[in-house]
Amino acid sequence: MLNIVIFGAPGSGKGTQSERIVEKFGINHISTGDVLRAEIKNGTELGKTAKGYIDNGQLIPDELMIDILASVFDSFEDSKGVIFDGFPRTIAQAEALKKMLKDRGQDVSIMIDLDVPEDELMVRLIKRGKDSGRADDNEETIKKRLVVYNTQTSPLKDWYKEDGKYQHINGLGSVDGIFTDIVKAVESL
Ligand code: AMP
Repeated sequence: MLNIVIFGAPGSGKGTQSERIVEKFGINHISTGDVLRAEIKNGTELGKTAKGYIDNGQLIPDELMIDILASVFDSFEDSKGVIFDGFPRTIAQAEALKKMLKDRGQDVSIMIDLDVPEDELMVRLIKRGKDSGRADDNEETIKKRLVVYNTQTSPLKDWYKEDGKYQHINGLGSVDGIFTDIVKAVESL
């Protein structure tokens, strides 16, 4: 099983690179942000709860996210592996992911840290907000999300270094060039 955690700040290119990785390695994709946006669109109870957090740039509580993740993971049949996009975002989520995979005889294969400077993230997210109309891609909410990333999510880099899974990737440059670097890292496993 090839289980990839694609990691990085909002706007670092996780979604774009995930699509290519899925195509190249034939694995399943879990984007927790996409799951939550679908719930909001469908007007579910979970969607209503999630909307308040998302619009405010805050994280959804860990217990809720961990349950969602496990149920999506277990819905895949004959899976060759999974790319986790937007999860984990806290140490508690990383620990829960490790346990969930261990209970199923698996582990994270690699954590790919897409590293992009903050001024570039701002430019990309403001552009994305204009193009796609994502409600949380406005300047005020972006700033909050970057604070949340720096305080709650970024410490996961050291967590994955200790777990021996960390791989730094320069997230600046062409989409193709970054993808080539990712493929090299995955293929050297
Ligand atoms: P994303 O599309 O990954 O940027 O996620 C958009 C928003 O969904 C985030 O700002 C959070 O409010 C929420 N979200 C997505 N994934 C998670 C997660 N793993 N834990 C908590 N909140 C999440």
